[in-house]
Amino acid sequence: MIVGTAGHVDHGKTTLVRALTGIDTDRLPEEKRRGITLELGFAHLSLPGGRTVGVVDVPGHERFVKAMAAGAGGVDLALLVVAADEGVSVQTREHVDICGLLGVRSGIIVVTKADLLPGLGEGWLELLETDLRALVSGTFLEEAPLVTVSAKSGAGLEELKKLIAKQADALAPRPSDGPAFLPVDRAFSLKGFGTVVTGTLLSGQLAVEEDVALLPGLEGPWRIRGIQVHGQAVKKVAAGERVALNLASVEAPQVSRGMAVTRAGELRPARVLDVELQLLPSVPEPLPRRSTQLVSIATAHVETQVRLLDVEQLRPGEKCFAQLRLSEPVAALPRQRFILRGSQKLEGRGATLAGGTVLALDPPRRKRGAGEKLKVFAEADEPAKLQWLLHEAGYRGLTEAELFAKSAMAPQKLARALENGGAQGRFVWVDKEARRLLDATVFAALSQRALALLDAFHGSNPEAAGLGREELRQRLAIPLEKTFGRLVQSLVDAKKVELDHELVRLPGRRRSFDSKGADEKGRLAALLESAALQPPLLAEAATQLRLGEARLQELLKVLVSEGAAVKAGDLWFHAGAIAALKAKLVAFLEANKEITTQQFKEMTGLTRKYLIPLAEYFDREKVTLRVGEKRILRKS
Ligand code: GDP
Ligand code: MG
Repeated sequence: MIVGTAGHVDHGKTTLVRALTGIDTDRLPEEKRRGITLELGFAHLSLPGGRTVGVVDVPGHERFVKAMAAGAGGVDLALLVVAADEGVSVQTREHVDICGLLGVRSGIIVVTKADLLPGLGEGWLELLETDLRALVSGTFLEEAPLVTVSAKSGAGLEELKKLIAKQADALAPRPSDGPAFLPVDRAFSLKGFGTVVTGTLLSGQLAVEEDVALLPGLEGPWRIRGIQVHGQAVKKVAAGERVALNLASVEAPQVSRGMAVTRAGELRPARVLDVELQLLPSVPEPLPRRSTQLVSIATAHVETQVRLLDVEQLRPGEKCFAQLRLSEPVAALPRQRFILRGSQKLEGRGATLAGGTVLALDPPRRKRGAGEKLKVFAEADEPAKLQWLLHEAGYRGLTEAELFAKSAMAPQKLARALENGGAQGRFVWVDKEARRLLDATVFAALSQRALALLDAFHGSNPEAAGLGREELRQRLAIPLEKTFGRLVQSLVDAKKVELDHELVRLPGRRRSFDSKGADEKGRLAALLESAALQPPLLAEAATQLRLGEARLQELLKVLVSEGAAVKAGDLWFHAGAIAALKAKLVAFLEANKEITTQQFKEMTGLTRKYLIPLAEYFDREKVTLRVGEKRILRKS
């Protein structure tokens, strides 16, 4: 559980954290000198009831909203700190917007510096409360309690702690069964320890000795040497805690805020995000269809192009689907929240414009109508989301590991959903080993295309006994061999195609020759038979049969596929002659154990021109094994 501060600069956030926790979060010399928070500060707070929560103190100055957003991304409970003497100010409003957009779930409104109230006149506090209630109306703080405290005198602090404890107990824990995801907010090196990175673990779990990656850029794997929570060493940690990780091998200067710690090999950074976007009601102008903004997501902060899908503009307070094309990749989870900031400040509110939720990671470019498609995804339950993702993945499909990264579902739930989907015929397992699946409708469409393609092929190639497997795979543009194998097998099982060695054909669509073709094939077969072990070269045969070389090649392929001819080197032999020779050779080897090239020559009476291709053919066919200058019988 993480408590975070929010509110305008100088309203007393850091002082309040110090009064509650005893920890001064302004640790930089410059922060001490200027008396202002420049960076995120971290503390931990022991609550009545014994629970300890992490505390993130954010800078309130408008120049550091980027850091504030990075800190607010992991906050469960926000303390909106407002100085009694100053009241609602610019970053009070902007921080409420940011916390709301980032999905902070609960909060407490803290009016601080209460010791100044006596000097502010009758009714001042009442006016301030009215202002505050107006500000938070319609936001996540609408029902939030309001307390008045003084960090200076300590008044109200115990009540505030009780309220924090009550809200903390009411909050459901963050999901600890999804992918591990820890956006880095600090990295430093500690003498005698090495590199330490800190952040809030937003999802999943991490344990000592596990291998992690730092995304984007530092895939590692880096071993977790140690873990600390609230300054105490622990063996493992679950989502919702502030964590310090001691990592082996990686150098601190290589790591920066904006990277995320994930389990090694589990997630990949994304450059394009499908999102649902909401423009703040207070923004005066609609957001145009195309714009460039700054996005803060987890602890990363990058420029992005924003493309609204299917709408010309997004009006203040409304939602639509959009695609973000980031200037550099970021690590993100599905359902992750983010904010968009423009380059110009809005009157009284800062530059925060919009926020949203990540739907799909690294999707294809979207066309018109994509909004409808994303709406289906956004509203789908988990099994339907898997189906949607698989459908979008097309012929390539997705592995279980890829679906885990794209859905952030708990592994056991995911495995069950996939097994069920397979059993119910909604998904097709195309590679059990790699655990890859295709959407069943995609697989069915692929089958239809394969059958149509074969039908067209038979139509224009009546002499062919079928289409080569590899040729079929390429024409279907199926990237993965296993997927193609599964497709062919399913068509064979359904008796929709037949296999003939490397050829695939439709049942009953055997080769047919017209009388001229049949005559040519017959004469070629006769020529090979009479030539026995001394067949003519291609050119010679072409002259003898008065056929073109290309036609001859076609016919030879047919004879090979029919088992009537055998190709060895550049020569085609009659299959009967080869079979007879093989029998002789095997008999010789059984009697003599080995055969030299000279002995082979004597046995056949052939010259090297025929002998060498034949000897090599028998090696290739695994009849013989060559050992130096001799050949022996290969034991099969
Ligand atoms: P932050 O920018 O919101 O973190 O504000 P700080 O905690 O740095 O406080 C800003 C100024 O307000 C400092 O000079 C504090 O001493 C003063 N301050 C903070 N809390 C109180 C309080 O409860 N009473 C009074 N009188 N002054 C306070
Ligand atoms: Mg401060």
